[in-house]
Amino acid sequence: MEDILKSITASIFQQDDWGETAQYIPELASVDPKQFAISVCLPDGKLINAGAASKPFSVQSITKVFSLIAALGRTGDQLWSRVGREPSGTSFDSVVLLEKEKGRPRNPFVNAGAIVTTDALLSGREPKMALTEILELIKYMSQSDDIYINEDVATSEQETGARNKALAYYLKSHGNLENEPELTLGTYFHQCAIEMTTDQLAMAGASLAGLKGAPAVLSLQRARRVNALMMTCGHYDGSGDFAFRVGLPGKSGVGGGLLVIAPNVASVAIWSPGLNRYGNSHAGTRAATMLSNATKWSVF
Ligand code: GLU
Repeated sequence: MEDILKSITASIFQQDDWGETAQYIPELASVDPKQFAISVCLPDGKLINAGAASKPFSVQSITKVFSLIAALGRTGDQLWSRVGREPSGTSFDSVVLLEKEKGRPRNPFVNAGAIVTTDALLSGREPKMALTEILELIKYMSQSDDIYINEDVATSEQETGARNKALAYYLKSHGNLENEPELTLGTYFHQCAIEMTTDQLAMAGASLAGLKGAPAVLSLQRARRVNALMMTCGHYDGSGDFAFRVGLPGKSGVGGGLLVIAPNVASVAIWSPGLNRYGNSHAGTRAATMLSNATKWSVF
């Protein structure tokens, strides 16, 4: 595994095209795109890495996996009356389907769906408490205390997040937001601004991969279902292409991170901040493809 990761890293640094960082969030736009890290957590709990695996980065939408786990823990299957389980085929922040489908987002990983999930976690308490639940869950799953919210990134998105605000108000108009839009949005922006290293993120995926010794935070059935959603919806309108290339459940974030789950075999975290046209890590997707080819971990 060490040799495979070294060879993937060398190959990534040979490329010229790193993609472009997320331009709509100023704090992320200014990150150097030519960075790369990969960490793999194996069934014995062993962590193997290459590149900048100890450098924290903005995990952004990857947190939607953890907020979904937390929300399902809180509301159970009731959540599915507010959000669907189908791929959207549209971009992460699209409004199109939301209007057509009367305010019920297609899945919990598009922004509208994640805003509903966060709203479900927020009801009946202060934003700080909902955020603490998400952050504590992530810390517990990664078995690391050293994970923080970057306030500058949260503020940056708060200032420029007109599209997410539009989505939240649209959800509210359809009665699918229980809290004041600004409160839910503030919680959502802070959740997205959590920073982790690829080492921490690979560890955090161990429970979803069903690895021995991983914290028991969700049942086998729930892990399978979250993995199914990651496979079908984890890369927005690039989900089919990711499944085609990599053949594993994955979740991307516009900070350039990727969490990839090889059920019963490994949890993988990759980071490279430049994005492809779908808003998923450009080099990260290449690296996941190389890893899947080298290990034959595809579930197909
Ligand atoms: N915070 C980002 C947004 O809401 C998350 C999107 C992503 O990571 O794909 O636009």
